[in-house]
Amino acid sequence: MTAACVEARHLIGGRWIGAERTARRWNPARGDELVSVAPVGDRNIVDEAVAAARASAPAWASMTGEARGAVLARTAGALRARASEAATLIAREEGKTLAEASGEVGRAAAMLEFYASLGRQPLGSTLPSADGSMHLYTTREPVGVVGLVTPWNFPIAIPVWKAAPALVAGNTVVVKPASIVPGSMHLLAECFEEAGLPAGVLNVVHGSGGEAGQALVEHPEVDAISFTGSGAVGRRINITAAERMARVQLELGGKNGMLVMPDADMELAADLCARGAFGLTGQACTATSRVVVMEGDEQRFLDALVARTMQIRIGDPLDPDTTMGPVVTEQQLRTDVSWIERALADGAELVSGGVASGSFLTPTILRRVEPEHAIAREEVFGPVLAVMVARSPEEAMRIMNGTEYGLSAGIVTSDLAAAMEFSRTIDAGVIKVNRLTTGTDVNAPFGGMRASSNGLFREQGFSATDFFTRVKTTYVGF
Ligand code: NAP
Ligand code: MG
Repeated sequence: MTAACVEARHLIGGRWIGAERTARRWNPARGDELVSVAPVGDRNIVDEAVAAARASAPAWASMTGEARGAVLARTAGALRARASEAATLIAREEGKTLAEASGEVGRAAAMLEFYASLGRQPLGSTLPSADGSMHLYTTREPVGVVGLVTPWNFPIAIPVWKAAPALVAGNTVVVKPASIVPGSMHLLAECFEEAGLPAGVLNVVHGSGGEAGQALVEHPEVDAISFTGSGAVGRRINITAAERMARVQLELGGKNGMLVMPDADMELAADLCARGAFGLTGQACTATSRVVVMEGDEQRFLDALVARTMQIRIGDPLDPDTTMGPVVTEQQLRTDVSWIERALADGAELVSGGVASGSFLTPTILRRVEPEHAIAREEVFGPVLAVMVARSPEEAMRIMNGTEYGLSAGIVTSDLAAAMEFSRTIDAGVIKVNRLTTGTDVNAPFGGMRASSNGLFREQGFSATDFFTRVKTTYVGF
């Protein structure tokens, strides 16, 4: 297995640019293996990247959608050709297992293919007019230069699900990837270049959120910002963007619940909860992080859940037998552990897991969690699952809707009426019946309610281009 170090560069106006100031990323599963080195960009580099994006905007916008789509299709091909290299890099840099990383790469390629096809889809409509001698129609124009700020947990898929709809709609972009996963973004940028994306259409600036990220968000020449990450950072970006009237899309955290109904197949419920909570080391915005079971079902459910969780093999993401990788950083591990300690102090009981060693944390199940406990309400972003008991269906729904978040939610039941009622009353952007709270189709809208999103626009699917376009209405009298 190759253990090469990726030397990431900024990509600005088609040129790969290094810097004296660099940041290093070590493999979280093998502390002594250097995975990537990246330049640390400052305000000046952001200025250059935005200028390059601005300069290339008119030519890119005036190309046909079909031609722009063709570039995305070739990017998908380039990424598929490097799929195994990309998956290995993600596994080494971010820490998800090789199987999970392969899934991410495949999904990113599918996303590129989906948006490639949108180059041929209508963007606008024809309307009947009150004037009989009028041709009335709307068109959608690109917004201009878009800043994309992305988190570390899907280092290729998230930049793709923002960049692909932005590009096919005719925008040019500047990406500021999460600073701990620069190598993955570098590989993706190489795929765009190999596909013949014109210089300056996609630019990448590496560096910290506080410096490069903030400079991008504040930049007066950036017309729109699409951000995925934590609520705290998202809120600040919202204020900064509002001040200068820039369009902003924020997809933030989650505290996703799974409701296990009395009629549920307990094996299925346990499987969905274990995979939803501990897959991707729990580091997914849609991870299952709380379960509500009805009184009387708790022990049966926990027995099945613990048995299923025992099958999880923690280890090096590159080992094919591993089904759960490390926590992404030492800092995140400390955060995860402190949430567990707080839960225990609040009166929760450890059912299994809770053991941290090196950069690994065993899958952690907590019971006797009350809806007002912090562990029932706050995002952990690690392999920690809180189990709560409800005494009535009404109480179950109160608990399910009882956090400030509303990203993904699931129910396990074979009662169709219960499933439909759940879908109607749950306050979440993504609802799953008898399926994982994680994972979505590329052609479906994705996003959260309440504190999980600023809620103005949805990502992914056909609706993603709403954010990246402006509507023009034209009246042609004849
Ligand atoms: P984060 O700390 O908020 O960082 C996200 C991005 O913002 C990174 O590129 C970061 O740079 C940058 N940033 C930090 N401070 C900034 C500032 N002041 N101005 C501009 N940019 C700034 O989030 P994360 O730790 O990478 O990711 C975990 C979070 O993402 C979780 O809350 C998770 O729920 C959320 N998430 C949501 C979704 C969704 O679709 N709803 C999907 C995945 C993840 P640095 O890397 O240098 O800090
Ligand atoms: Mg962070």
